[in-house]
Amino acid sequence: MHEISLMQNTIEIALEHAHRQQATKIHRLVLRIGEISGVVPEALEFAFDICTQNTLAEGAKLEIQTVPVVCYCPHCQTTFQPSDIIIYECPKCNKITNQIQQGKEIELSSLEISQPEP
Ligand SMILES: [Zn+2]
Repeated sequence: MHEISLMQNTIEIALEHAHRQQATKIHRLVLRIGEISGVVPEALEFAFDICTQNTLAEGAKLEIQTVPVVCYCPHCQTTFQPSDIIIYECPKCNKITNQIQQGKEIELSSLEISQPEP
């Protein structure tokens, strides 16, 4: 499953960050997932449980933020959210664009950790 390797990479990044901060525990991870990134949030949650086992992130909360698709129309220089996610038609000039500005991302946007007392 695609989501498992994706989640493995994400957890690795999170753990690396946590280790650098000398964190003792990861409490919460926030992921930004684009509407057309092709990943299934439910599958990510499932993968999260597996990938965090025996790590600092075990038992952490996973929050998924969906990022809507935003397109850019080069004809009239408009950015817009398409009403259809297959054909991106500019609402202003009705031309079809293939310039996607966001909606494909898969990224770790924030991490909540606890650090030892100084
Ligand atoms: Zn346009």
